[in-house]
Amino acid sequence: MEHKVIIKESSSVYSTILNFILFSIIISFVIGLIARYRKKEAFPAGMRGANSEHFSESKDVNVKFSDVAGNSEAKDNMQDIIEFLKDPDRFKKFGVKIPKGIILYGPPGTGKTLLAKALAGEAGASFIATSGSNFVEKYVGVGASRIRKLFTEARKKTPAIIFIDEIDAVGGKRGSEGTSTSEDAKTLNQLLVEMDGFKDDENIIVVAATNRLDMLDDALIRAGRFDRHVMVGLPDLNARHEILKVHSKNKPLSKEVDLLQIAKQTVYMSGADLSGVMNEAAIYAIKENSTEITLRHIDRAINKIVAGDEKKDRSNISDLEKKITAYHEAGHAIIAKLLNKESVPKVSIIPTTKGAAGYTLINPGEKMFQTKEEILNKISGLLGGRAAEEIIFGKQNITGGASNDLQRATKMALTLITKYGMSEKLGLVSFDDREISLQNELLLSETKQILDKIYKKTLDYILVNKDKLEVVAQRLLSYEIIDENDLDMLLVG
Ligand code: ADP
Ligand code: ZN
Repeated sequence: MEHKVIIKESSSVYSTILNFILFSIIISFVIGLIARYRKKEAFPAGMRGANSEHFSESKDVNVKFSDVAGNSEAKDNMQDIIEFLKDPDRFKKFGVKIPKGIILYGPPGTGKTLLAKALAGEAGASFIATSGSNFVEKYVGVGASRIRKLFTEARKKTPAIIFIDEIDAVGGKRGSEGTSTSEDAKTLNQLLVEMDGFKDDENIIVVAATNRLDMLDDALIRAGRFDRHVMVGLPDLNARHEILKVHSKNKPLSKEVDLLQIAKQTVYMSGADLSGVMNEAAIYAIKENSTEITLRHIDRAINKIVAGDEKKDRSNISDLEKKITAYHEAGHAIIAKLLNKESVPKVSIIPTTKGAAGYTLINPGEKMFQTKEEILNKISGLLGGRAAEEIIFGKQNITGGASNDLQRATKMALTLITKYGMSEKLGLVSFDDREISLQNELLLSETKQILDKIYKKTLDYILVNKDKLEVVAQRLLSYEIIDENDLDMLLVG
């Protein structure tokens, strides 16, 4: 499901469109850096093969399944592949067909690359890694020839795992609007030709990763090609706990730090995020010449990962802007706490370098399904910021700070209508992403109707609880940041 933990504001509550564009550039710049950093981490310099710039190779992979915390279904799902690569004859005697290709799919940073590498490590196979984007070329035949090279190389190094990250770059649905060019189609065909041509005694398995399985071309996921699909999802509480343990193994942690508690606060973080939290916490500790990593360091690191670093220079933020942000965040917090009974570990009006004016961290708990009422209430939580602004400052003085909230509220309402079949007018329908567009008048009017209705309810709810909104906002203005205990104290009575 689409819900994220954090309700983040765009930078200036007075942000104009230009401002917004500037900030989205800054935001994507930061994210770009992180992505690059992660990729580097996935393939450390020592592992890069010298013979080609389009893929990296390593013979003795020292990553094992035990380095991958959580993801136990995915690991179980690949156990037979390890056995096969170790002793293929045993399988051949029984006429067992082992998949030629596996697709690992799920959100970024959930350990897909790590799993593929661990598969090679467990099986004692070579690990040859590349990314789909390396094959996207406008020159005739270049992509296809790189694919041929990749497989030629793998055949020399068997048993081998070929890992193709971002397979959707070449394996996206063909023919659908604007996705792939005829060059990409040739590249994809070459990949299929190579896989179809695997002989039984070629111990090569192709592992591909993507964020979106439904975007892949049908030819790719057909039987005999990538016919095993393994979901690698965001870690649950237990997995987050395990991942935190893995990434604090070699770090001096203060005794007060309870990793289970940290795991509870980090719902919707990926393995990569959690690894980032421990790393940042260590850096904060070192900067302070501390002998160990304390709760405070970890706390700051969590803030940094979800919202960005605290901004040092805040001179350009006026008192009025601060006040608006305080009421806005208090609005989110009131709805989350009182209406949705969600846990709210932190509310902050400290602006961040990632362009947030403030944020409300919401911990929705772990649930497999949500009822229609719960989803509507979630939307209410997103609208709570704007509603509080309107109530306190008047309809004429609402700000663009709610833009991200509105975007997500819209998306949620649209999902409710077009995926979950929960709208009265449209009934029991569920569409593919590509079939959904707000250009469609019926969808637009249904979405609008839902949002309008919930917004009115949200206004009412906050009006009834206006005294609580006041105390939370005032507290934020004096302390800038409040945690769950403070909040609970303020909201009783
Ligand atoms: P993906 O390929 O899904 O985008 P990666 O495998 O590149 O994600 O993960 C990036 C980093 O995040 C890993 O190198 C590792 O440090 C950390 N990580 C992600 N998932 C896990 C996990 N399940 N256990 C331990 N570390 C993890
Ligand atoms: Zn908001």
